[in-house]
Amino acid sequence: MKVLYVASECAPFVKTGGLADVIGAVPKVLEQLGASIKVLLPAYPALAKVLKGGKTVAQLGDLHSGNARLVAVRKEGLDLLLLDAPHLFDRPGNIYLDDSGRDWADNHLRFGALSAIGAKVALEGAGRWKPDVVHAHDWQAGLIPAYLRQAGKGAPPSIVTIHNIAFQGLFDASVRHTLGIGDELFTYEGAEYYGKLGFLKAGLALCDKITTVSPTYARELLTPKFGMGLEGLLQARSDDLSGILNGIDPDIWNPATDPDLVTTYSSRSLKRRGKNRTEIESRFGLTPYPGAPLFCVVSRLTRQKGLDLLLEVLPDLVERGGRLALLGSGDSDLETGFKDAADRYAGSVGVIIGYDEALSHLLQGGSDAILVPSRFEPCGLTQLYGVRYGTLPVVARTGGLADTVVDADNAAIKSRRATGVVFDPVTADGLRQAIQRACDLFDKPETWRSMVRAAMRYPVGWDGSAPQYLELYDRMTRPGTGKETR
Ligand code: ADP
Repeated sequence: MKVLYVASECAPFVKTGGLADVIGAVPKVLEQLGASIKVLLPAYPALAKVLKGGKTVAQLGDLHSGNARLVAVRKEGLDLLLLDAPHLFDRPGNIYLDDSGRDWADNHLRFGALSAIGAKVALEGAGRWKPDVVHAHDWQAGLIPAYLRQAGKGAPPSIVTIHNIAFQGLFDASVRHTLGIGDELFTYEGAEYYGKLGFLKAGLALCDKITTVSPTYARELLTPKFGMGLEGLLQARSDDLSGILNGIDPDIWNPATDPDLVTTYSSRSLKRRGKNRTEIESRFGLTPYPGAPLFCVVSRLTRQKGLDLLLEVLPDLVERGGRLALLGSGDSDLETGFKDAADRYAGSVGVIIGYDEALSHLLQGGSDAILVPSRFEPCGLTQLYGVRYGTLPVVARTGGLADTVVDADNAAIKSRRATGVVFDPVTADGLRQAIQRACDLFDKPETWRSMVRAAMRYPVGWDGSAPQYLELYDRMTRPGTGKETR
């Protein structure tokens, strides 16, 4: 099975969120299962060195007023195809946003180009390699099914994965001419979304199969509360929609070998976590106090993540003796709110605004619990890292959080299956009670330790999910199914 992945980010090269982790991990697992996967990515500056070591497999000519080429290279266990178009992708800073924090004004060209070249490789191949299926991820690859539809016969089947439906890639209708999207596709059944050109809408309307990153989010997406305007389309296509749970890369996220920890450990040497905790305390300016739980947050600071709720209940967390180490960046009101809280509760609340991969590992390796009070969460990865590192997740009952954390109710504690605290409704009160429950559980060291061990045993890799992708690709390419039935 040969599959072309098309995405806008991929760990460890370029990452702004969970999408990158998934794109960096799944192809490796699928290769072990016998598939051949190539990942098409824009050649951002972060990939400059990798690009240099690659081989040009196609000259693409002019692509929106600049020369472009396709470069193949194997790196970090991944077969990469890099879209080298310096006028579109060789610019400093955030891959989506300019210096003032606004979307790059030409994002429609940048990711329209990624989609167009994705469709070209799907149709013509790269070198001697030609995919059986093309797998587009999020809105940045959303126009691929539209280009394939325009190409007509001979196009391979396509699948679109929704990693977060909040980001839809909506642009002025007029840009469709520059992007070569014909009027016949600019319809309610195609790429049009309330008078605009919708990249994700186009993908979801015109692809063969749709997946998202957890079974619960797949169900939630069919409702107005979570579907963000696309619920009607998804309802109409519900037979083609499925939820395949994300996993984590167990080599990169392994407390027994993690180079970013002060001390590595396993479930049999939990005491060793103490040194990581001490390092966290020192980095975040927290007063050492082993008798109370150390909570952490590693997150984009946005409303989605429910961190305004955390700000609201922070006084209660501190009153209860808890401490918080928060690493994140995002909305300026939340950044300011947490910085103020760190001043007000100096010693109990430590805040580092920024993005720091190594520090995110340390937080998982030394905190007691990780807070993820998201209003919606397609899958969520930080709770999975928490589970693997024995940093018990306290999470909202939504999306992948609900699918991956076993709440510490009496039955789960008794049967030693509990791995965290799951709460609803997702309100300040709900979060307050969840933190209270976590503190109560922490006060019973035996129960807490048993939960930590249960968490560290819990399967969070790709063993369960990767075969589901393969099965889906198989179904899509089998004669008489998938593409032929639509
Ligand atoms: P999302 O993709 O919605 O941001 P996920 O939980 O799926 O949320 O993935 C977030 C990923 O980004 C995780 O790997 C997390 O560790 C990482 N991350 C988020 N914020 C930071 C930060 N400030 N510093 C380092 N890593 C971060």
